[in-house]
This record gives sequence, structure tokens and C-alpha cells, in this order.
Amino acid sequence: MNKKVDAIIIGAGVIGSCVAYELAKQGWRTLSIDKLPEAGYGSTSGSCAIIRTYYSAYETCAIAYEGWHYWKDWAGYLGAKDERDLIKYHDTGCLVIKDDHNKNLEQVCATMAKLGCPFEHITTDEIPKKFTDADTRQFSPAKTIHDEGFGEATGDAVNGAVFFPCGGYVSDPKLSAHNAQTAAEKHGAEFLFNTEIVEIRQANGHVAGVTLNDGTQIDANVVVNVGGPHSSILNKMAGVRDSMKMTTRALRHEVAHVPAQVDIDYGKGGFVYSDSDIATYARSEVGNHILIGSEDPACDEKEWVDDPDNFNSEFTDQNKTLVMRLGQRLPWLGIPEQAKGVVALYDVTEDWIPIYDKSDLPGFYMACGTSGNQFKNAPVAGKIMTAIIEACESGHNHDKDPIQFHLENIGHTISLGTFSRNREINPNSSFSVIG
Ligand SMILES: Cc1cc2nc3c(=O)[nH]c(=O)nc-3n(C[C@H](O)[C@H](O)[C@H](O)COP(=O)(O)OP(=O)(O)OC[C@H]3O[C@@H](n4cnc5c(N)ncnc54)[C@H](O)[C@@H]3O)c2cc1C
Repeated sequence: MNKKVDAIIIGAGVIGSCVAYELAKQGWRTLSIDKLPEAGYGSTSGSCAIIRTYYSAYETCAIAYEGWHYWKDWAGYLGAKDERDLIKYHDTGCLVIKDDHNKNLEQVCATMAKLGCPFEHITTDEIPKKFTDADTRQFSPAKTIHDEGFGEATGDAVNGAVFFPCGGYVSDPKLSAHNAQTAAEKHGAEFLFNTEIVEIRQANGHVAGVTLNDGTQIDANVVVNVGGPHSSILNKMAGVRDSMKMTTRALRHEVAHVPAQVDIDYGKGGFVYSDSDIATYARSEVGNHILIGSEDPACDEKEWVDDPDNFNSEFTDQNKTLVMRLGQRLPWLGIPEQAKGVVALYDVTEDWIPIYDKSDLPGFYMACGTSGNQFKNAPVAGKIMTAIIEACESGHNHDKDPIQFHLENIGHTISLGTFSRNREINPNSSFSVIG
């Protein structure tokens, strides 16, 4: 007889592990299956793991602010120790430049005010004091380093900035997934690694379980796709991909990792920095280093990847571009001779907002399309998926009557229809990693 559990979770990244933890806490007998050797080995390990509250829509800001509370009290959230130690969350705050692209953050600040999430306006003159000797001239629109006029100012000054004190980063994203795995195991969850799921089985129009690469079958009435950049392949395997309005696609991205040439307090504290005038985000990394990522300007060609097991893992011009773009703002930033950093895959939807939803196959659920911006929401995503699964398994029609989800830390309630696989594209999105 096949082994049977209540729920199979495909993927043990940070979100998959939090889904396992939240379901196990509610008494579900879960089995997480991952083809990689350890929790968080997939795209989670390449994450910049920035925790920030500013997004483009009310609901996405709300879950991010809710999630910040769990990172602030990670030990309390997990209620468990890990023999490898718990991650350290650096609550540094985030400095975000105001410009035309983000409409001077007016909408974002209005949403923050509605949510009770603190923020502080910073004048243009104050920026260099906060962000060591920053050049505050305008450089937009973003260009590639081969375009004429790259690095030349296009205006006298950006329009100021906003500092969001609730935000920061986790310097070891992979460990956060292991922490959540350990917490889940304390509630009876099981994890199986180095094991690939090759089939999602159905019986009588309902999900029935999975088949592993060695032919073993495991049965469950609930299967959850938390496969990161493999989500589209898994949705196809379950036969639900073509009936969804939203799609998910793997997108290759590089992150540059450079030493800060001067002591800008990076490594001791520093902060998260987001600047759509130069289409760049950055954060401090321990040891006075800086991580630099892209805010996906239109001039950059997108590198969509059909086979997430087979993509170019070498650094390209992208790495140098990232450093040079930040170099416009920080003229003292040197370009290292040797490129360092990360090459990894996002799992992107049309509007860069994730899908947390059921599917057209009863019993098959998905937490995917996390678009390079959902590490921070892993604990909330675990709770959201548990709410959706429990309601739908009790007969609720989430498609017709979207679940209203209460965010316990901030006291707001949101409609989970926002994260539907069949939603209309959200016009408020930045259509970039900002979400
Ligand atoms: C470069 C980069 C920077 C990022 N920066 C940030 C950031 O600063 N802040 C932020 O909030 N978010 C960020 N993100 C996004 C965030 O890291 C992801 O949303 C999050 O890590 C996704 O976690 P996950 O558990 O869904 O997926 P993953 O970590 O991708 O895990 C999916 C797992 O599923 C497994 N799997 C897939 N198919 C199968 C199969 N058939 N059988 C068995 N196992 C399977 C894989 O092996 C993998 O381990 C970034 C992402 C990247 C790539």
C-alpha cells in the first residue's frame, strides 16, 4: 500500500517550509518533498532577503508590514530552536528615493499611513548625510552601460526620499528555510530531500498524490505547489496551467556583491536602499559589503528561462551594469576586477504579484509566482495558504467568494482574491521586482 499523508508540499524553500510549519501547527500530517539536498537550497539561497513594507498595492503592502513583525520576533514566530542557530534579522530600515517613476512615493506613503506603518520624509539635501556622499542628481531614464550618455546626469536633483524604519534584511536566507523546517518538524512535519516529483496523480477529478523519480507513489488529498521557478512545470504536471489567467515564468537575475570602499556603516548597520532613478536596489551585507540588484528597467532585456534546471549560471555584463548604476549615486564605489554575487531565478507573474490560491483541480493548491519579492512574506504566505486550504477543503468556494484574511499583527483584513490565479492584471503594480 502507498504511504499516505494529509498534505504533500512540493518544495522546501523558505515559503514551502513556512507552509509546512503552518499546516503542521494546525494538525495536518505533512510531507515536504524537495529534489535538492536541503531546505532553502533553491532560489531561496540566492535571495537578497530584503524585508521591506513598500509595494504598489494596498494588499501587498499590508502583508509585507504584517510579515515584518514575524522577522522582528523570529524566535517567537517559530517557537522552536534550531541546532544550526536561528537567523539574525537586521532591522536597519530602508531609504527609498522619490522620483517620477514611483510618483514621488505619494501613493505608497498614503498606504503606509492607512496601515499605521511609520515613514519619514527626507529632503534631497539630507540624502548625502544618510547615504554617504551620495550624488543626488537625476540619472533617469535608466540606460545600459553601452548606451550613449550612461552616467551623465539628466537633471539637477532627485525629489528627496522616504525612510521606512520597519525593514532590513536577513543575511542567511537559506538558514531561514532550515529554521522553518525545524519548527515544522517539532509539529510532526516530515521532509524528504534529494527526491524529485515526476507526476501529480489524480483520481475521480481530485488530486490523489504524487509519484517520485524512483517510481514510489505517495497519496494525499492535498498537494501544494511551492516549487519556486519550477512552478509552471508543476502546474502543467497537474493539468491546471492552461486554465489559469495568470502565468508564472522563470526569469534569470544577477545580484552583485561588492566591498564598500569606504566605511558607510554597512556591515555594522547600513540599510536597504531603493532608487528607481537609477533602477537599482542595494543593501548592506556583513563585512562592510554591498549587495546590488536591479529594479528591472525597460532598457534591460529580460532573460526568460524555459528550463530552470539549465540556465547560464555565469556572470555577464549584468553584474558590471549593477555596480556601475549604483556608482552613479555613489561615485566612490569601485568596480571590482572579479565579478562576485549570485545568479538565480525569479518566478514571475504578469503583474509581479504572487499567486496564493487553489487551482481548478480540487485538492491542488499553489504558492508561486513570487516575482523576486516574497522572501519577506514567507511566514504570512504559510498562514494564507493554510487558511485557503482549510476553507476549500471544508467546501468553501474561494473563487466565487474570496476568503477575507485577518492580519493578526497589524489588525487589518484583506481579500485573498488579490492573489488569485484568475485575477485581472493589477494596474497599480510597478511591473518590476518592487511588486
Ligand atoms: C536573486 C534573488 C533575489 C531576491 N531578493 C529578494 C529580496 O530581497 N526580498 C524578498 O522578499 N524576496 C526576494 N527574492 C524572492 C524570494 O527569495 C523568493 O520569493 C523565495 O525564496 C521563494 O521561496 P520558495 O519556497 O517559494 O521557492 P524556492 O526557494 O525556489 O524553493 C522551491 C523548491 O522546490 C523544489 N522543487 C521544484 N520542483 C520540484 C520537483 N519536481 N520535485 C521536488 N522538488 C521540486 C526546488 O528544488 C526548490 O528547492 C529574491 C529572489 C532571487 C532569485
